Amino acid sequence: MFYGYRMMIDPTYVLVILAGIIALAASAYCNSTMSRYSRQRISTGVTGQEAAERVLHGAGIYDVGIRQMGGRGISFYRYDKTVNLSAELFHQSSITAVATAAHECGHAMQHATGYGVNRLINLINPVMQISSNLAIPIFIIGLIFSWEPLQSLGILLFTVVVIFQLLTLPSEFNASRRAMAMLQNTGILQTEEEVRGARKVLIAAGLTYVAALAGALLQLLRLIILSGGRDRD
Ligand SMILES: [Zn+2]
Repeated sequence: MFYGYRMMIDPTYVLVILAGIIALAASAYCNSTMSRYSRQRISTGVTGQEAAERVLHGAGIYDVGIRQMGGRGISFYRYDKTVNLSAELFHQSSITAVATAAHECGHAMQHATGYGVNRLINLINPVMQISSNLAIPIFIIGLIFSWEPLQSLGILLFTVVVIFQLLTLPSEFNASRRAMAMLQNTGILQTEEEVRGARKVLIAAGLTYVAALAGALLQLLRLIILSGGRDRD
């Protein structure tokens, strides 16, 4: 009971707050950048859906579907070979729409070329799902009963989560790099200003993944400190 109480006034909680602030700042920056460039129409008048089609065909990919879905400002690539865009990204002809659509096509290009990092991500994904659910509960039980092997197991499981977050960075930045190249090669973006805007949108989106990694690292650090602190009691 004492340990449970101590955890509630635990000074390492400041790391959790810091992680929260980083995540909030990254998501606020991403949202404001996306919203600003969703109001900026591109000179070619190409919509998100048309951009996706052009980018995919430009990359020689003809077996990937482009689907419209619900939600706002959401997009993702699925391994059933679909690029999924929410309604406004699908229909709008804005910098945000074409940049986001092209980014998801970047993931389709990774899929088509057997990009190694993604294969690794898919490989550890099932382990990551289990780890992210069990790491903290296992660690806390280890802390309550002062049983070090259980604390170490919790830390180990959480390390898997951190590795997963780390691996998404090269994958995301690679997809954005491919997107930028294709947006220019296919003539979707015509002016320097449009290219700059698209780059800003993709960097802002990428920063949310950096923030997620930073948050996971701070949480890992917290677990290590909590576990180490136990020994001195
Ligand atoms: Zn992505």
